[in-house]
Amino acid sequence: MEKEQLLEYVKSQGIKFIRLQVTDINGMLKNVEVPSSRLEQVIKDGTMFDGSSIEGLARIDESDMILKPDLNTFTILPWTVERGKVGRLICDVYTTTGKPFEGDSRYILKKVVKKLEEKGYTGYCGPEPEFFLLPKDEKNKQIKLEFLDEGGYFDLLPVDLGEETRKSIVNALQVMGLKVEASHHEVAPSQHEIDFQYDDLISTADNIQTFKLVVKTMALIRGLHATFMPKPFPMVNGSGMHANTSLFKEDKNIFFNKDGDYQLSQELRYFVGGVIKHIPAITAIANPTINSYKRLIPGYEAPVNVAWSVSNRSALIRVPAARGKGTRAELRSPDPTSNPYLLLAVIFGCGLKGIEEKITPPDPVIEDIYSMDNNRKIDLGIGKLPGSLKESLNELKRDNFVREIIGEHIYKTFISIKEKEIECFKVHVTDWEIDQYLKLY
Ligand code: GLU
Ligand code: MG
Ligand code: MG
Repeated sequence: MEKEQLLEYVKSQGIKFIRLQVTDINGMLKNVEVPSSRLEQVIKDGTMFDGSSIEGLARIDESDMILKPDLNTFTILPWTVERGKVGRLICDVYTTTGKPFEGDSRYILKKVVKKLEEKGYTGYCGPEPEFFLLPKDEKNKQIKLEFLDEGGYFDLLPVDLGEETRKSIVNALQVMGLKVEASHHEVAPSQHEIDFQYDDLISTADNIQTFKLVVKTMALIRGLHATFMPKPFPMVNGSGMHANTSLFKEDKNIFFNKDGDYQLSQELRYFVGGVIKHIPAITAIANPTINSYKRLIPGYEAPVNVAWSVSNRSALIRVPAARGKGTRAELRSPDPTSNPYLLLAVIFGCGLKGIEEKITPPDPVIEDIYSMDNNRKIDLGIGKLPGSLKESLNELKRDNFVREIIGEHIYKTFISIKEKEIECFKVHVTDWEIDQYLKLY
């Protein structure tokens, strides 16, 4: 949208406030609200904010930052319509000297998009975020770790809060311009998935942030809590965020080759080769919490084995059956606690490197990997994903290429935040330990 057009629209719609949004290093959406009367000036000069108040967003010596809105991201927040309309704009972060800020994950993704463009590629991603809807206590305060329903995959429920909430999420997303492809109940009770249409990388990462805000808000309005925590319930499927990736040259999906094996191109193989080569370090970004690794265990439809397959859900990367424009590689390890800008930056950065350096992946695996014995896995060259945040963080420290993609500022800040998280967990005694040892010893 052009500046004049936007100002006119804001005025004619009676929009009173604009929320300027930015994502911190942990993938959390933050915002500052300005009255619409200030919008023209904000578009021109940006708005100053104290970066040190937002995790990972400033150097110690340089806390003043400038937010500049991306006008293409304007939308009304649908739930504000009745009580005074509020619009929102997603922003880029600049230093006071006018340079894009290296600690801004949206900028990191923009750099990867530019690299792709230089080679004539456009990257696309269709994400599949999953989440749980949980009840709260009578006072609408405490979250209850209980299921709201007993539904399973694709179940149609009697009209209940879960279904109603999901419908209201889809409605709000559509009003905000996201194209919802499918929404359904997931395998676990109380678990849902809403897939929206694939888009270019910046739009997809923006959409994921919008999506999370909408899900949380709609749940809140209905007295529920929506969580993207990867594994809230032991022994029950966790929540992932599969990333369906494809590369286009002009309007042709170059992952498709009608004459290739499985009708897949060499570029797709190399892309997969690049991702597989760097997956240990990518995992730190794709699965960035202690809890993420409770999801990555066998038996719950989440990947554990580093392999790719043309059909099999037990593999890390699956190429679904669609061909032609819809040809894509689905990376199944990411979870929704990942910062979507950094996630797409490392996936596509490594995929592009795979193409440039012709990194050949192992052959696709046809057999079910979950039920395969270890010797066969070794024969087929099937490795394992890192088993903990500490392991994946160590892998990130060893991987100079991934470090280069995310840049020094984010690399150092991310490691320091995550090391603190690991230390914090270390001193904690879990319920499981109490159950196991208190009586026994
Ligand atoms: N919830 C599963 C996971 O943790 C994925 C289920 C599916 O295939 O959609 O990744
Ligand atoms: Mg799913
Ligand atoms: Mg999927």
